[in-house]
Amino acid sequence: MSLLEQYNRLKKEYEGYQKMAEYTMQQQNKKIITQDKKLDMLSLIVEISQYINKYLRNGEIASTINDIMIGILGVTYSSVYLIENRKLKLKVSNLKNILHHNSIYEFNNGSRNELSTSLINSPDNIYKGNDNISIHSAILMPIYLKENLLGVIVVEHKIYKYLSDEHIKLLTAISNQIAMCIENNRLYNKIKENSQRDFLTGLFNRSYFFSVIYEKIKDCGAGFAIVMIDIDDFKKCNDTYGHQYGDRVLRQVSNIIKNSLRREDIVSRYGGEEIIVYMYDIKSIYDVYTRMCKIKDKIKTSPINYRNIKSYITVSIGISMCKAGNGNVEELIRKADMNLYRAKDSGKDNVIY
Ligand code: GH3
Ligand code: MG
Ligand code: MG
Repeated sequence: MSLLEQYNRLKKEYEGYQKMAEYTMQQQNKKIITQDKKLDMLSLIVEISQYINKYLRNGEIASTINDIMIGILGVTYSSVYLIENRKLKLKVSNLKNILHHNSIYEFNNGSRNELSTSLINSPDNIYKGNDNISIHSAILMPIYLKENLLGVIVVEHKIYKYLSDEHIKLLTAISNQIAMCIENNRLYNKIKENSQRDFLTGLFNRSYFFSVIYEKIKDCGAGFAIVMIDIDDFKKCNDTYGHQYGDRVLRQVSNIIKNSLRREDIVSRYGGEEIIVYMYDIKSIYDVYTRMCKIKDKIKTSPINYRNIKSYITVSIGISMCKAGNGNVEELIRKADMNLYRAKDSGKDNVIY
């Protein structure tokens, strides 16, 4: 073999090794980049977990999620839907309109039963609207707790292929945490609500009434009224038909009263078969009187059906009123109570102010 031939062979071998070394280095670099990405994702998850724990407790769930998506994940647009009465309700979004969220519409109108995670990357603009918004990358991520759908997060980006399967992994980890936070919040609110309510009638309980009344009257508008309502001859009703029937009467009377008043009036079970009502922005006690007469007549004319018993019941009502917000609550309760006893003395089934 000539010297030249030897040289060429060595050169070829050397180039082969060089290529192999380059290839190995590229592979190593790729691995480092993937590891880096994983590390980035892990630190993002840690950062987001800390954020979730810090801010998701105060009830502002939807806007906190949006802050995380835009601020930490770096998406351009984020929309959060939460389930209310089996429908997905948009809670917060930084988009002008959400007409392109087709699957949400389909879920709400019943043409779709389930929602699953989806990733869309489209060279065409996904957004439907006249404003200057363009979306080319989007992920829809349902938030499930076991098999219960709690809500949906839709994250979107103006850059084509910005969002990828890596983001789905990240969002899945986040959505599990969010699901637990939403559930905790729901349970907390339920316990809070239960502690304010009377178990039998569903009305507010006495301790709730006294815990809010002093603050409420400061903001009562023209004036406020206190109304005391007591079922007539309730003991006899219990003795005749039994306690279960009596409970039914109490629930029915409570419902009629609650449904005949405004949402902001406080209807509360004061004692056994006595109900106390706070009414705000009252200009004249006569207005309260006429309203209470209507309630009294509604109760009187509504039959109580239980098993095969049907009977009627009446109530007596006492009213007091105060023109400004600085009235003495105890004094007004005493006055309403006195009027209630006058109504009883007058032969019951009566309203006195
Ligand atoms: P009046 O017309 O003077 O108000 O007579 P009354 O029988 O309605 O009044 P009284 O205070 O003598 O009796 C109230 C009854 O209410 C006695 C009590 O057993 C009954 N009661 C109190 N709480 C409940 C309850 O949660 N369920 C039932 N079924 N009865 C109750
Ligand atoms: Mg009574
Ligand atoms: Mg009583």
